Amino acid sequence: MSRGSPVVSPVYAVVDLELTNRCNARCTFCPRDVVDENRGYMTEEVYDRALECMAEAHIGSLVYSGFGEALLHKRFFRFADRAARKGLALSLNTNGALLTGQMIAELAASPIGHVNVNVNGYTRETYEMNMPGLKFDRLLDNLKEVLATDGRPVLSVQSLLHDEDYNRRFREFYLDLGVDYIQFFRRNNRSGNLDVECSRQVPFSERFCRTLIFIANDGRIFPCSHDVRRRTCLGTVTDTPLQSIEKVEHDLCRNCDICSMDEFATMRHMS
Ligand code: SF4
Ligand code: SF4
Repeated sequence: MSRGSPVVSPVYAVVDLELTNRCNARCTFCPRDVVDENRGYMTEEVYDRALECMAEAHIGSLVYSGFGEALLHKRFFRFADRAARKGLALSLNTNGALLTGQMIAELAASPIGHVNVNVNGYTRETYEMNMPGLKFDRLLDNLKEVLATDGRPVLSVQSLLHDEDYNRRFREFYLDLGVDYIQFFRRNNRSGNLDVECSRQVPFSERFCRTLIFIANDGRIFPCSHDVRRRTCLGTVTDTPLQSIEKVEHDLCRNCDICSMDEFATMRHMS
């Protein structure tokens, strides 16, 4: 923001943006299979428009996420540079399988400040059972190489919560490897879209998602990425300013058991 510009409180703090809904994995806990739409990549035109929307809404943080592997997008680093020039703080959610050699060098030179790697297992057996299509040895090599690279971003790994024994061993294993911190998430029903028993609901006013909004790879805007069937479209980046969208409780929110901000925070385990 230039000096002297009026300060406008942002409606949302974070945009989750999906560069692609294609993925190189087939995780057993992932609801990608229920997405019955064509899979594809965000175009340059849609991306640039999305950045303009974020600037107009004074949003400061962009997370490359959604139901796909963002690093499959050929223009990933060029896109990230453009977002950083707009003043956005950038994070990447990834399964880490493509983080090798040249990709790591580009990552270290890029404006990505935080990489969160989705890792469901601390042994070859559990990891490859939970995340078919990916190789545990490859993941470990990649994480070690990132950790040894000068200028690397903050590196965290995340897993679904299991029993106490799994959680402890998982935490010890990856902290020993040198990652900066661990995140655990409760298995949830993805806004009622998955056949997972609804475990606990908190009032809408206490949910961490109140401060984020989701832009899909085709430029449509949704309350969050968990609307995997894409039923609650709130507009597109070409016709709907983000600041005009109020975060209200939609039908999908009523069946959603994704945890509150408090619970989310207590699941962080800083090294
Ligand atoms: S890596 Fe992520 S998007 Fe891909 S299948 Fe696994 S959970 Fe889903
Ligand atoms: S409460 Fe609504 S917006 Fe929040 S995560 Fe659940 S479905 Fe998404």
